[in-house]
Amino acid sequence: MDYQQLLENIYQEILPYAKEGKQADYIPELAKVNPDQFGMFLHSIYGETASLGSADTRFSIQSISKVFALAICLSIKGDELWKRVGREPSGTAFNSLIQLEIEKGVPRNPFVNAGAIVMADILLSHFENPEREFLNFVREVSGEPTIDYNREVAESEREFGYLNAAIANLLKYHGTIENDIESVLHFYFLMCSVEMSCRELSLAFLAFANHRRKFNYAGISLTASQVKRINAIMQTCGFYDEAGEFAYFVGLPGKSGVGGGIVAIHPLQYSVVVWSPRLNSKGNSVMGMKALELLTTETKESIF
Ligand code: GLN
Repeated sequence: MDYQQLLENIYQEILPYAKEGKQADYIPELAKVNPDQFGMFLHSIYGETASLGSADTRFSIQSISKVFALAICLSIKGDELWKRVGREPSGTAFNSLIQLEIEKGVPRNPFVNAGAIVMADILLSHFENPEREFLNFVREVSGEPTIDYNREVAESEREFGYLNAAIANLLKYHGTIENDIESVLHFYFLMCSVEMSCRELSLAFLAFANHRRKFNYAGISLTASQVKRINAIMQTCGFYDEAGEFAYFVGLPGKSGVGGGIVAIHPLQYSVVVWSPRLNSKGNSVMGMKALELLTTETKESIF
């Protein structure tokens, strides 16, 4: 498969969408990002690569960080994790409160904000230095030791993070989180603020694309079955209330973030990352969704 040629063809086809949507502006630091950027990087499990545009520019990975948090939580808690958070798709927005109230403080899944806030709490309770452990894991799984948090983005999000604070309060009220709300939110926003490029993320996600390879990074190890189950949760919950659309048009497990990044995995074939800050109304990158749809259409291969 000539992935490079394929990506170049895709780029021509998505150009008409270049001005559609707008970047997340509820996080003031993200509103400053130039919305007219685009990057894409694909890594096959056999070592082939293909790259387009600003594939080496780092951006805010935001909710893509929830997959890393899930890997660490599953590694340290095993199935006990599912007592604190569910694994069913939500069909609601990533920051929705409604379901959480009805379901008495047990988040639907680890990829809605409520679920990730619970995971932040688990990591805070488990590690002496969770900030360092989380970063170590991300650096090791991507093989890139310079990856870091962007503390300005995290602080700017906290300043206006009223909805996430409401979620944390509801969780605390129901006893789903152990630590104090401020520390949990601080760590949650910090995880979201990690900056990585398409190339770095696609290398990191190869670990999730190839469950036959040993998964052991910075002391975090997962079985092949756990890796496959993380893919299952990406498939059903990775795009909030657009998970059905993503399955319908793209047909791969994946995860998006409001920084405009989307990762997708074709198990035992490749991991691909696309980044473009302009988002649709569900908080997913417009060009990113389109590029991935074309990728699986042109290759005629998805998981289905
Ligand atoms: N930090 C963002 C938030 O909590 C992450 C949301 C996202 O990327 N979907 O609102």
